[in-house]
Amino acid sequence: MQDGECRGEDLTRIQRAGEILKQGGLVAFPTETVYGLGGDALNPDSSRKIYAAKGRPSDNPLIVHIAELDALAAITAEIPPAAWKLAEAFWPGPLTMILPKADIVPKETTGGLDTVAVRMPSHGVALALIRAAGGYVAAPSANTSGRPSPTKASFVAEDLDGRIEMILDGGEVGIGLESTIVDLTVDPPQILRPGYITQKMLAEVLGEVAVDATVLALAAGEDCAQAPRAPGMKYRHYAPKGQLTIVRGAESAVVDYINAQARADRENGGKVGVIGTEELLARYRADVVKSAGSRTDEATIAHRLYAILREFDEEQVTRIYSESFSTDGLGQAIMNRLLKAAGHQVVDV
Ligand code: AMP
Ligand code: MG
Repeated sequence: MQDGECRGEDLTRIQRAGEILKQGGLVAFPTETVYGLGGDALNPDSSRKIYAAKGRPSDNPLIVHIAELDALAAITAEIPPAAWKLAEAFWPGPLTMILPKADIVPKETTGGLDTVAVRMPSHGVALALIRAAGGYVAAPSANTSGRPSPTKASFVAEDLDGRIEMILDGGEVGIGLESTIVDLTVDPPQILRPGYITQKMLAEVLGEVAVDATVLALAAGEDCAQAPRAPGMKYRHYAPKGQLTIVRGAESAVVDYINAQARADRENGGKVGVIGTEELLARYRADVVKSAGSRTDEATIAHRLYAILREFDEEQVTRIYSESFSTDGLGQAIMNRLLKAAGHQVVDV
């Protein structure tokens, strides 16, 4: 590990956190995507504690985080050539692979499935913690189930203080949306959750890559006709307390619709928030107007989205309107999360 990568956390505290995990306790830690809530992935009691701390349904499996490539063989029953290619191209990094699980991975960690989700994060604190914990850290996002994933340590504390042994603080995360999940137990490989590693990037390494029909349906704002394949997809996610509506259409029509709605909502005693882009920000009239960044800068929109949703909660906004974004590239992940946060409520104007 290079100097500076563990900024905010020294190795002594990381060692202590590793001991807590080895003894079956829980520690939240930064990764490059969002903060994770870690437990020993090979200890069924630790996984049970993770579900309890988050209030997460126990059939929604956890991702096992590793720090060395050798660890992959220990927790999987079979590694297809595609997995090695993806590991070489994207690990350490924001990509999770679904593979057949080895017996040492308890069903408590995999939500009862015979497959295991594996990721090697690139964040220095995460890698140091995984090593200190013995190599296998089960970690979903470190939020209460149903709330937006935490992008800084204070958001973790809001949800989990008093429920877990320790929070490692690595400052704000870089990416801000959870990892891309790709299922390698099917042919062609299938994206179950879009993320920073896009379909195009995966296809450049693997050739054909499919996207789960429900992800596309969600991205198009349609109902899910099919049962979701990633267990997590069937649960309400990322939701702010205020009711969120996505408004899709030409720029002026979007601004006019949102302003008219905001006026009506305020007359009815509501407090109205808007998620807009820099380009249109000055044109909104609402109680709280937040910039997701420039329309041309998707990385910034991804980085800010969850913090914006949490800030609206703090400000007790009751109604939220958001512009809609492109579903190309990283936009696929952004719109997937925004649609979930909105309970798929989209208005075309
Ligand atoms: P989170 O940790 O909050 O990012 O959630 C982990 C996500 O990984 C959830 O959406 C799970 O449904 C998904 N996941 C974990 N393990 C598997 C698996 N074996 N098969 C399919 N999806 C999985
Ligand atoms: Mg999560």
